[in-house]
Amino acid sequence: MQTWARATWPLRLNMSESSPYIGRFAPSPTGPLHFGSLIAALASYLEARRHHGRWLVRMEDVDELRNVAGAADDILFTLEAYGFEWDGNILYQTRRKDAYQAAMEQLMEQDLVYRCTCSRRDLQDVAEPGIHGLIYPGICSRLHHPEHVEHAIRLRTQDQLIEFTDAVMGIYGHNPKQDVGDFIIRRRDGLFAYQLAVVVDDEYQGITHVVRGYDLLDSTPRQIYLQHCLHLSTPQYAHLPLAINARGDKLSKQTQAPAIETRNATTMLVKAFRFLGQETENGLEHASLDTFWQWATSHWNMDSIPPQQSIILPDKLI
Ligand code: GLU
Ligand code: ZN
Repeated sequence: MQTWARATWPLRLNMSESSPYIGRFAPSPTGPLHFGSLIAALASYLEARRHHGRWLVRMEDVDELRNVAGAADDILFTLEAYGFEWDGNILYQTRRKDAYQAAMEQLMEQDLVYRCTCSRRDLQDVAEPGIHGLIYPGICSRLHHPEHVEHAIRLRTQDQLIEFTDAVMGIYGHNPKQDVGDFIIRRRDGLFAYQLAVVVDDEYQGITHVVRGYDLLDSTPRQIYLQHCLHLSTPQYAHLPLAINARGDKLSKQTQAPAIETRNATTMLVKAFRFLGQETENGLEHASLDTFWQWATSHWNMDSIPPQQSIILPDKLI
């Protein structure tokens, strides 16, 4: 406990803020902003503004092997050109390693983690597929590997249902032990896993509401479980339909979704707004950015977002 208190002080940044709503947009700088990430930025932003809350931007550059030079600045430049106004400073996960380390040490003290030397290859023959890759069958959980052997750190899961009510998708839950297995919080290469970083940072930034893509819905029970283990608070969650192409691929940097251009910002914003089930008036796409934001902030309604896993986008946007 002592380590935790020392290394992560202050645990929460916004302790003294009176705003009851703190939202965030947390892009990974693996490429420029594309239409898929614009949807998450827009929904999280409008929901924060509707609640007169704060909207923070966090650069999720924790997976350093996937970061692309210049992408973080490029994303921020595009957000700015589109008229997004974030509160406070940008938080970079690469500067948060002490906090992740302290959280991991807290889990070690509680005997909730163990060293795992299994390679993907080792698991292929013995593990069953789950909702998120192979279900780790707990091979190393009682082996007590010495520290000098190259290893990942896994969190012991419990055989229990973890359920929550998503503001868009409704009730969702699963049993992390049965559906995922003990999962990695620090990788073999020494990098902390997204699941740990996101939970520590959501707490640090005092996030009360998480609005993000459907692809992270099945990560949420793991994050809630981690929050319980670390005695952190659980924000409200809302997961948005994913933009997919006619072949069913998610628009992402991996599928080479095109960067959104800054010169037709209003047109792209209107498309993202409509994608989210929101009502617009004719000609809004040709209006000024200011007019769009005025319309969007006064008409935004989270209840209109279709509770669908994904929505196929017209070809033009792909
Ligand atoms: N960094 C993640 C992404 O770009 C988002 C994580 C989150 O919102 O929790 O997909
Ligand atoms: Zn193992």
